Amino acid sequence: MSKSLPVVAVASLGGTISMTPSDAAGGVVPTLDAAQLTHSVPGLSDVATIKATSLRQLPSASLGYGDLMAALTWAEQQIADGACGVVLTQGTDTLEETAFLLDLFWKLPEPLIVTGAMRAPQAAGADGPANLLAAVSTAVHPDSVGRGVLVLMNDTAHYARWVSKGDALAVQAFVSHDGGVAARIVEGRPVFFHAKPGRPQPLPRPVRDWPKVALVTAVLGDDGELAEMAVNGGYEAVVIAAQGAGHVSFGFAERIGRLTAQVPVVIASRAASGSTASKTYGYVGAEIDLARRGAHLSGWLSALKARLLIVAMIASGVAPGAVGEALANWSKLTRQ
Ligand code: GLU
Repeated sequence: MSKSLPVVAVASLGGTISMTPSDAAGGVVPTLDAAQLTHSVPGLSDVATIKATSLRQLPSASLGYGDLMAALTWAEQQIADGACGVVLTQGTDTLEETAFLLDLFWKLPEPLIVTGAMRAPQAAGADGPANLLAAVSTAVHPDSVGRGVLVLMNDTAHYARWVSKGDALAVQAFVSHDGGVAARIVEGRPVFFHAKPGRPQPLPRPVRDWPKVALVTAVLGDDGELAEMAVNGGYEAVVIAAQGAGHVSFGFAERIGRLTAQVPVVIASRAASGSTASKTYGYVGAEIDLARRGAHLSGWLSALKARLLIVAMIASGVAPGAVGEALANWSKLTRQ
C-alpha cells in the first residue's frame, strides 16, 4: 500500500544546478528544467510528492526583481493549493540576495527554501541532487515551519538574513557568520540548533517601480565622490559598505552629511562579519559622527542585505522615516 506523501512544490530559476555544457558558448549554460532536475534525484520520491515548475532559465546575476516577485507569487499559490513547503532552485552567485529579498516579503509560516549547486550536473561530485533532496526534506519537516526563507546548501540550512557566499567555487560556499546556521541535515532531517527566531513583520508588496539604491564600498583614499555621483544620477538611497565598524574618511563624512539631506544613507561594514558600532568611536568619519550627520547604521545586516531592505521598503511605499526602525528590526539577532 502506498503511503500518502506531503506535496512540495519545486520551481527552477536556472543557475549551475541546471547547467549543461554548450560547445557554442564554450562552457555550461542553464538548460535543464525543474522536471529534469527533480526526476533523477535518488530518494526524492520517498520524501515528498514533487510538483515541478520551470519559472526561468537564467544565470542568477541576471535574475531581476520582477523574476523574484513572480517566484514569490508562484510560491504563495503553491501553499494555497496545498503544498506543505516550496523549494526554489537558482544560481548561487546572488542567492544571499534573492533569499533575503524573498524573506522580506514572505508572510506564510510554511517554509520557502532556496537551493542551488556549486557543481553542474555532469561534474564529478555534482552537489545539486543532494542539495535538492536536503531542501525537500527540510521543506516537509515540521520544525522548519515559521522560520521564514531558508537557504539549503551542503546539508546546512541558513537563515536568509545571515547567509552569505563566502567562497566563489568551493562546495562549502555558504556561511552564516554571527547569526549562526539554522540547521544541519542529519540522516535525512533538519536538526535546528535554536528555537524559532523572532521574525520582523514582512513588508507589503511593492506599490511602485523598483528604486535604484546604490551600494558603494568605501576604499582607501576615498572621499565619497562616487556616492554623490549616484545621488546626482537619480539613486534614491545609498548604502555604504564602510571600513571596519562603520567608518569613512573625513572627506567622505562631509559628503555623507550633505547626502543625508537628500536621500536615506545607510552605513554597513565592508568586513565579512561583525556589526557596525554605535557608541565607540568619536572621530570625524566614525559611526557616532556619521549617525549625527543623519546616516543610519545597519547593525548586523551586511551591506548587500541592507541595500535590499531599503530597495524593498521604498518599493513598498514605506515612509523613509521608518528606515532606522526597519534596520533595527531586521538586524536583530533574536533567539527564543
Ligand atoms: N556559481 C553560480 C551557480 O552556482 C554560477 C551561476 C549562477 O549564479 O547562476 O549557479
